[in-house]
Amino acid sequence: MSVLEIRDLHVSVGEGDDAKEILKGVDLTVRSGETHAIMGPNGSGKSTLAYSIAGHPKYTITGGTVTLDGEDVLAMSVDERARAGLFLAMQYPVEVPGVSVSNFLRTAATAVKGEAPKLRTWVKDVKSEMDLLEMDSAFAERNVNEGFSGGEKKRHEILQMRLLKPAIAILDETDSGLDVDALRVVSEGVNRTREEGDVGVLLITHYTRILRYITPDFVHVFVNGRIAEEGGPELAEKLENEGYAAYIKGSKETA
Ligand code: ADP
Ligand code: MG
Ligand code: MG
Repeated sequence: MSVLEIRDLHVSVGEGDDAKEILKGVDLTVRSGETHAIMGPNGSGKSTLAYSIAGHPKYTITGGTVTLDGEDVLAMSVDERARAGLFLAMQYPVEVPGVSVSNFLRTAATAVKGEAPKLRTWVKDVKSEMDLLEMDSAFAERNVNEGFSGGEKKRHEILQMRLLKPAIAILDETDSGLDVDALRVVSEGVNRTREEGDVGVLLITHYTRILRYITPDFVHVFVNGRIAEEGGPELAEKLENEGYAAYIKGSKETA
């Protein structure tokens, strides 16, 4: 049982006079076994939230707290956060030149678990997860994200999540740019992880489409660096019909 608690989180980007506050007091609690959807328009700060939890150096925490099982996440290095059980699937996964998928996954698993996974079971696990994600075995020998299609990048992110078995998985627009087949495969990967239990999922998305495949327990509408409304899955339907316009208007009036 894990719990990620975000309290009154304020985050800025840029330096000195160019510093701009992006997150303006975010409160959110994600527990094992729960799936939370964060839904909001472009530029509202969703990726900033994901990167801030993961420890990207570009973002400056100016206030608030993030804890995992009571431990201060903001005091941890990026590696320590991963070892503590936090996982981030990035919206724009980066290339790792000269490093194969196979080596990358094994290195990541070793770093997260503190010891190298046993070779025999590891090879089997990688193979079976790749099969489930409908990935060709040749994919393992390609360099990470080099020349990957949008769908391959997102499958690779989910493959990492499957093998690293995090306590809390943050998926930043894992649905963006996917065709229907890739969306189904990626969603099934997330749902397998949920069914196995014990993972808390923070699913960040701009569109309601992925929520037809992954039913969240909680939906949070994210606008202008804050959570503007919270509800259950029915809130996603309301957004599908009405969009974000009313929330954007409201956030400007109160800003
Ligand atoms: P979302 O993921 O919801 O689309 P982001 O977190 O990517 O939103 O961006 C939120 C806001 O922060 C945007 O206005 C974006 O332009 C701004 N922003 C993000 N990174 C930087 C940066 N390095 N410098 C200046 N502004 C940034
Ligand atoms: Mg965006
Ligand atoms: Mg984003």
